[in-house]
Amino acid sequence: MTAQSTLAFRSLKSTHPTPQAEREAIVANPGFGKYFTDHMVSIDWTLDQGWHDAALKPYGPLMLDPASSVLHYAQEIFEGLKAYRHPDGSIWTFRPEQNAARMQRSATRLALPPLPTDLFLESIKQLVAADAAWVPGSGEMSLYIRPFMIANESFLGVRSAHRAAYYVIASPAGPYFAKGVAPVMIWLAEDHSRAAYGGTGAAKCGGNYAASLLPQQEAYENGCPQVLFLDSQEGKYIEELGGMNVFLVLKDGTLVTPELTGSILEGVTRMSIIQLARDRGHQVQERKVTVHEWREGIASGEITEAFACGTAAVVTPIAALKGRGFIAGDEHAPAGKLTMSLRQELTDIQSGRAPDRHGWMQRLV
Ligand SMILES: *Cc1c(COP(=O)(O)O)cnc(C)c1O
Repeated sequence: MTAQSTLAFRSLKSTHPTPQAEREAIVANPGFGKYFTDHMVSIDWTLDQGWHDAALKPYGPLMLDPASSVLHYAQEIFEGLKAYRHPDGSIWTFRPEQNAARMQRSATRLALPPLPTDLFLESIKQLVAADAAWVPGSGEMSLYIRPFMIANESFLGVRSAHRAAYYVIASPAGPYFAKGVAPVMIWLAEDHSRAAYGGTGAAKCGGNYAASLLPQQEAYENGCPQVLFLDSQEGKYIEELGGMNVFLVLKDGTLVTPELTGSILEGVTRMSIIQLARDRGHQVQERKVTVHEWREGIASGEITEAFACGTAAVVTPIAALKGRGFIAGDEHAPAGKLTMSLRQELTDIQSGRAPDRHGWMQRLV
């Protein structure tokens, strides 16, 4: 692995970058995941050569053979992290070594080649340096960075591919939910699981998302922007949302979040919230939580707040849990106090407004 740490990046700058006025208009009001920067990174892998041919190049379509394994057997993983512009103009990212390590775990589970951490970090640096003008300047906005890896061997036999490619693209990002940080209702998926015991739930792979889209559609139809999934064996324990981890706050200030069972994705935001809460002296329990406990706790007043968390939407207050024939909580409930104060602390650290006491931030530019 260390031999590959010296892999040099070819640099091919775009000859047709987005005109400045157009870019500035996009960066001022980017939405989420709609616009992409002028460049991308690609690194190839083959069984014979390992990782090779690292390049920063103009953003553009991929050429894929129709027999590429990713198109048939979904051998694909991804990551998500953000670049933040600090008040002095410097650009930083948050705990990227955690994303690198998680991508290696995801790769192992999907029988893809793990990308060495230094190549992962260098790929992010290369792209953000080239597209620094795309990093928004203010508070809640950032540049969302999407590394991903696909199996691209042209072969229909079923086995792990002998050829893969890693890419990084980036997209300026405003608030994830159209309505900003307003509390959301979430829908309880009772007929479908996101991930099975022994399956790929702990890996960040596209296949998990494919499984979540039908219940997600059901959520929309029921007025909820997100789905809550239960464990696949007993349909009793809460796991997480389609793309976010979940926390409950008890009336004595204890935070409770589902323990990692192998079917839950280990969020970097989740582990950071746990740390920040413990720093303040809150108890944090990682344990099994039943949906029954949630519903009863809302009814009795034992549970006072609920929130979801992940890189894209940071911390999102949950107003109520809705399922077939019930609503636990109040659709119009205001955001919880502790929820919003943890959110504030995390975003303050990320945007450089609060000291980084855990050494979580890494400078990119
Ligand atoms: C990415 C992701 C999360 C959140 O992880 P972060 O590292 O906090 O962004 C939670 N659940 C799923 C299923 C995810 O894919």
